[in-house]
Order: sequence, then C-alpha cells, then structure tokens
Amino acid sequence: MTQQAQPNNRPVRTRIAPSPTGFPHVGTAYIALFNLAFAKAHGGEFILRIEDTDQTRSTEQSEKMILDALRWVGLDWAEGPDVGGAHAPYRQSERSDIYKKYAQELLDKGHAFRCFCTPEELDAMRAEQMARGENPHYDGRYADLSREESDKLASEGKPFVIRMKVPTEGVCKVQDMLRGEVEIPWEQVDMQVLLKTDGLPTYHLANVVDDHLMKITHVIRGEEWLNSAPKHQLLYDYFGWEMPVLCHMPLLRNPDKSKLSKRKNPTSITYYRDAGVLPEALLNYLGRMGYSLPSEQEKFTLDEMIASFDITRVSLGGPIFDIEKLNWLNAEWLKEMTPEQLKNAILNWANDSDKLTAIAAAIQPRIHLLSDAVNWAGFYFQNLPEINADDFAHKSLSQEQIIEILQIATWKLEALPVWSEENIYATLKGLSGAMDIKLRDLMQPFFIAIAGSSSSTPVMNSMYVIGADMTLTRLRHAVEVLGGLGKKKLKKLEKTANELPDFLAES
Ligand code: GLU
Repeated sequence: MTQQAQPNNRPVRTRIAPSPTGFPHVGTAYIALFNLAFAKAHGGEFILRIEDTDQTRSTEQSEKMILDALRWVGLDWAEGPDVGGAHAPYRQSERSDIYKKYAQELLDKGHAFRCFCTPEELDAMRAEQMARGENPHYDGRYADLSREESDKLASEGKPFVIRMKVPTEGVCKVQDMLRGEVEIPWEQVDMQVLLKTDGLPTYHLANVVDDHLMKITHVIRGEEWLNSAPKHQLLYDYFGWEMPVLCHMPLLRNPDKSKLSKRKNPTSITYYRDAGVLPEALLNYLGRMGYSLPSEQEKFTLDEMIASFDITRVSLGGPIFDIEKLNWLNAEWLKEMTPEQLKNAILNWANDSDKLTAIAAAIQPRIHLLSDAVNWAGFYFQNLPEINADDFAHKSLSQEQIIEILQIATWKLEALPVWSEENIYATLKGLSGAMDIKLRDLMQPFFIAIAGSSSSTPVMNSMYVIGADMTLTRLRHAVEVLGGLGKKKLKKLEKTANELPDFLAES
C-alpha cells in the first residue's frame, strides 16, 4: 500500500490515549479516526489506553463518556480497558508499579536523578528567573548530586521527585511523518519530572513506557505534543528502545482560526449527538479536517476513507471545524436515506429510555392529554432554543447581572466532577448565596436559557436530564444572545468566579 517504513517491519499498531478529564472532545475522535484509518489501511490494529496519571483531574464519569462517545461515532478498538487484551491493564492508574520499575532503571543508569526541591524552592527559582527575564525552567540544581548523597537524603525520608537528565546545549532533531525533520533546541527542553513525590508517573514516562510495552509502531497525535517529542525521543534512547514513528496532526480550529474552543464552538461529541448529527456524518466531517480523498468526494464512509488512506495527504494548514459545514454534510447524509431509514434514525436518536422516563416524570403533573407532551417536552430534544435578549427581561436583575450569573454558573457547572441533580442544585444555591440574589430570582434566566420559556418543568431537573454538554452549550448560547462578554470583562469575571468556592453537594 503506502510509503511509511514500519519500524523493524513490526505489525502496525496505533493507539488513542485519552486523558479522562472532561467531556469527550471532537479532537479526540479526530485523532482516533486517523489512528484507526492508518492502522486499518496497513492491516494493523488500533487500541485504546486511558492516560489517567493526573489523579486530581481524572474521573470515571469522564472515562465512560469518552468511551461511549468514541463507540457512538463508530470507532472501535481491538484492545482497551473495557475489552481487555494482551497488554492489559490499559488504564495507567493500574500500572504504577511498572513505571516505578522503569524510573528506577533510569536512576540506576544515571539518566535520571532525584530532585529534593520543595515547592517553595521551585517557586523562588522560577521567580528569580523571571526577574532576570528568563523563561522559568528547572535549573538542574540536583542533577549532579552524588548517588551516595541522594540515597542518604532519600533514606532520611526527604520527599523527592525523579527528573530526567536533558542536555543543555545543541539541538534535538526529531522526525515527523508530515513535517520531516524538526529541530528543537535542547535549552527549550526542561528536565522533566518523570515520577512525582507520591510515586506516580507523569504523562511523559507513562506514555513512553506504555507505547513501548504495548508495541505501538506509530504515534499519531495532536500538534500540541510536538514539543514533548525531544523528551520522549531521549527516553527511548535511554531505555535503548526503538521509537515509534511520530506524526503530529494539525489542530482543529474555530472559523476565526483560533484553536478550537468551547466558547466559540461546541467541542463535545455528546453535544453533536444530542443535537442530532449522525455518527457517520460526524466521522465523515472529521475525516475532512486537513484531509481529502483522492477522488475529492465530500461524502464518504469510514470504509471508503480506509480503502484509499494515505497519511501523507494530511495538510498542515489548520483545519477549520465549522458547524455550518457539518450541518450541511449531515443534511447530505439525511437526504440520501430512504424515508424508512430516516424514520429509524430519528427514533433511534430519541430513544434514550432513561431520558424519556425522566422527561415523563417531569411533565406528568402538567399534562392532561398525551398530546400535551409535545409542548412540554419539546425543548428536551431541541438543539438551541430560539430566544432573544428581551426574553430575559427580569423584575430585579439587570441584563448585565444576568450575563454574569449565566457565565459564572457555566464555569462552576463545567467544573463539576459529577453531573448530578444534587450538584447542580448545590452550585446554583451556592451562587445565589454568594451573589446575594434570591434563588428564585437567580433561576429565571436559566429557564429561558434551557427551556426557552419561563414556564417550564423544574429547570435544574431539566439541566440534569438534557445532560452537561447540552446544558453548557445552551448557557453559552444564552450569554451570546445577551450580547456576550468582552475579553476584559471576561477576565475580571473569571477572577471573581475563581474566588468563589466550588459548590458541591455533600455526599
Ligand atoms: N493523554 C494524552 C492526551 O490526552 C495523549 C497524548 C499522546 O497521544 O501522546 O492527549
């Protein structure tokens, strides 16, 4: 088939390695798609690994959402935490002994060292560097400590991290499938922490060790990881392992060319699912991000993409993720269905049993006829409600206050570790207390933002039922409808929001 040398002619294996720290991002599906297409086009395997080394930010709920979303969109993995495989476990939090062993090996070989800096010492170091106009970096102060001294401090129980040694001069050259040789000066590469004080690894160590042990031959990932490539290459060298071929894909962008962000575009796969995008259409659209089929056809299936796949066709100009175009493509898919197929697609999309039961419970006290359900329940299925600024008119709150409430609530809700009715209530109740606004008054804009009307089913329950992604997208939409927030105001408000505590339900 194509062009890329396979390291030592090993069978091609690629992976997606999401960190379960938030909503399932379209960028994850994009990278997964290209990994899968590459593997399949070379008769290889595509696997999934969960990178949950950041224990404070990783959640089970996020992992589940990511796996569900990738499956929904039609990407399937041969090995992973949910399906097992020859290289299990596939969740990094279950592999900590492995990383400890390899960190020790680097320490023993003299490629890594214990660093005993306290957080205060590191802060002072960075502050001094910044005062001198330097970029903050680790200055190597423990790199040359003798092994005896280091062992002694460790045995006295002084806390330490393990850092890798990194050359301070010269340039590192890494090969990238799309970019050729990339040069990065070593002075830009920090003496990365590999193992933290608690004995858990950082991304860099875990990622390299796992890619090696899981026999990954090609690492296809987002451009934002290119700067990590020198550290990874050095680690492969230190271990004496063959490095996978690297390929850094261009980042998805908003229509204004900035990096795709949820403030300007919904970024969660679940949102697109709930808004009624077909999984095939979303995958097709992602397949067109910086890529085209040799036939230039716009509508194609995953199998068609795989059949002619050639990664060197990826162009590096930042691909624009544009909802209008996605909707257009989705319409093309819908048009080609028979009415019977379309009917099934609609039923399938709406047929979420838990959601339907929750909606039934919410509208039950309000309806007389089953047909009343159409009016009461319509907004649960809608994309964004049709609203304008006047709909938010409030007896005691100004438009400005309403924007602030909605924006702060969006931040607080998006940080919830678990999307539950209790947490939603605790957040809004907490905000009402902190902002000294009666809960009843504070709630009214939420009815408009979520249900499009002030007479609706209880809105906190509605938010729970339509889910985090749709709720947050509607709240962001409401802020836009109300005129949005300028950069300066946004910054100020962010500060206010950060000073507020997290409002969580007591468990
Ligand atoms: N865990 C990383 C992420 O969340 C994976 C990066 C990589 O593919 O090396 O994107």
